[in-house]
Amino acid sequence: MVSTQRSWPHDRIPVEPRGCDTFGLPDDRRLDVAEQVPLVDYLVLGDEPHLQANECTACGARFFDRRNACASCGKTEFTKAAIATEGVLRSFTIVAFAAPGIPVPFVAGIIDCDGTQVRANVVDVEPDPEHVTLGMKLKLTTFPIGEDSAGTEAIGFGFAPLEAN
Ligand SMILES: [Zn+2]
Repeated sequence: MVSTQRSWPHDRIPVEPRGCDTFGLPDDRRLDVAEQVPLVDYLVLGDEPHLQANECTACGARFFDRRNACASCGKTEFTKAAIATEGVLRSFTIVAFAAPGIPVPFVAGIIDCDGTQVRANVVDVEPDPEHVTLGMKLKLTTFPIGEDSAGTEAIGFGFAPLEAN
């Protein structure tokens, strides 16, 4: 090793850290894996995607949006709480009319995930009352919903019937 370093004196090689050029790829192609960003900041991606709530440390109330103070008790301390990825459908609406560009019908539901009420669409199911029933068991699922010009993928979520998985 010592002799190798002596054969490449510093005054003969560039000292700038340009190692990436040796792969022959421009900087923006060094990573093959598309970057993914969650559609909402309470969706946590990774090996085991899950929802994350802000939980009031005083009373345990959970909120998915950012709060300055707890709506239940008024205290201001929150901690992050992982929400169960399986739940039970407590209420739903089959939405037949929506803004242009949003495919209808779809199922908007409230899912009880181990005591935490989650508003989400019920997906991977025929959107009719024969297939969507109160009390059906659901599981969190994530899916790409679009990509920006830089190749960053937006990831959305819904709840799919547990049996189908
Ligand atoms: Zn509280």
